[in-house]
Amino acid sequence: MTLADLQALEAEHVIPSYARYPVEWVRGAGARLWDADGVEYLDFLAGISVLNVGHCHPAVVEAVRDQVGRLTHTTNLFYNEPAMRLAGRLARSSLGGKVFFCNSGTEANEAALKLVRKAKPRGTIVVLEGAFHGRTYGALSATPQESKQAPFAPLVPGFAVVAADAEAIAAVVRDDTAAVLLEPIQGETGVHQLPVELLEAARAACDRVGAALVFDEIQTGMGRTGTLWAYEQTGVVPDALTTAKALGGGLPIGALVTGPRLADVFEPGDHGSTFAGGPLVAAAANAAFDVVEDPALLERVGELGERLREGLRALPGVRDVRGAGLMVAFDIDEAPALVRRALLEQRLVLNATGPQTVRLLPPLIVGTAEIDDALRRIAVVV
Ligand SMILES: *Cc1c(COP(=O)(O)O)cnc(C)c1O
Repeated sequence: MTLADLQALEAEHVIPSYARYPVEWVRGAGARLWDADGVEYLDFLAGISVLNVGHCHPAVVEAVRDQVGRLTHTTNLFYNEPAMRLAGRLARSSLGGKVFFCNSGTEANEAALKLVRKAKPRGTIVVLEGAFHGRTYGALSATPQESKQAPFAPLVPGFAVVAADAEAIAAVVRDDTAAVLLEPIQGETGVHQLPVELLEAARAACDRVGAALVFDEIQTGMGRTGTLWAYEQTGVVPDALTTAKALGGGLPIGALVTGPRLADVFEPGDHGSTFAGGPLVAAAANAAFDVVEDPALLERVGELGERLREGLRALPGVRDVRGAGLMVAFDIDEAPALVRRALLEQRLVLNATGPQTVRLLPPLIVGTAEIDDALRRIAVVV
């Protein structure tokens, strides 16, 4: 089938909820993608921070091949080793409590929302301006963006929206607050790192009223910022975190990870998912985890991020280069047009999070040569 055939099928039969670029991917390896004509591209989006280990990482491919021929699905009525092993690794690498598996980021946040409500019945959940937590009704209700919410009203009640400001958070958290939910670095709205003082204020406010502090690390986790979890760089430890995107090494899996205090809030029957924590996705996730927990890789993520930001700062028209590790953005006029030209003319995959913001999320396995190559290609289109 040609690209035109795909576009015709889409026009006739695919619900038009996405705006796609006119490119069909057929193969990937590391930080490279190939289109249907065999043309090679450099991928600095990584499936929106899903391919932190790169496309078709040999260890993930091997783990999936091995598992797919033996057992793919059992339901959570039974045990499977890959899921239990992964739960242990996730909890021990972070908050030390327990894990609930699901299939995506939005589902991880749904689990977190239900958990904090059960821990503090009828409590309000505080979310921040500029947040993105997902598209299902609970997560959407936690995503205070007019364009995303308005067509789908009425939303889930019980959310309070507050400015991303330490004093505002301290003021809004009250005795009836169940939780504060936030992204340590707001990703979908343009890579805006929350100040440590804000996180500390949220921690103190939650402690004051017995509310849960929940970090959405769906985009920032799995090594993206140069530590396995972004909160490690802040000195603020949440009561729970959510992860997804890169967790499965390219396969769909999400997880809610708690600290000890929230570990036993859910009881049998409270929450569930048919697919969640299946042996196939869990095997892939264990292989991806092996890659991203490597301290040498994490250190390199920090160094390469610095190199990328420095290179971007030297380009004309580029403003406010920001981010942590390999989660990077800059502002520039007409960002979507730049991203389109980078893709179609320079064979470099980037992303625009808005009319003025370009986001870069390369696989964490890139090298300095690929960082410099991307900078050269961007320099042509800025
Ligand atoms: C991507 C993302 C989500 C939603 O994840 P899905 O897997 O698309 O449902 C939620 N929160 C953050 C911070 C994200 O980056």
